[in-house]
Amino acid sequence: MSQMKECNLCLSVKDIHNNFISKRGKETKSCSTCLYKKNQKKKDYRNRNKDKVKSSHQRYYLENAISIKERVNNYRKENKEKIKQRKKQLITCVCGSVYQKCSKAKHERTKKHQKWLDSINV
Ligand SMILES: [Zn+2]
Ligand SMILES: [Zn+2]
Repeated sequence: MSQMKECNLCLSVKDIHNNFISKRGKETKSCSTCLYKKNQKKKDYRNRNKDKVKSSHQRYYLENAISIKERVNNYRKENKEKIKQRKKQLITCVCGSVYQKCSKAKHERTKKHQKWLDSINV
């Protein structure tokens, strides 16, 4: 004869042997169906939380990525200005003329500079 028991959650009366024995062999207060549902809820909760944790990590990463990008961009911009300024720097050439640093090659091809080169070759 099987013993019957009322589940403390769904209040249905079920066979103890089939419904109220845990995996460890202990008698439980709730039927296996209710325990299963309870476990699923726990799993669901954990899964949902996992997603939350993941998304907050993602947000942190995204926010950080943007600020890093901005910093790199700013650095580049500043450097660009510096390089520009340096290129604008005026250089007084040995031949006596003044040219912008960025146009050194161009200046060295000018007649005045060539003439000076000729003059020292003599
Ligand atoms: Zn139940
Ligand atoms: Zn020159």
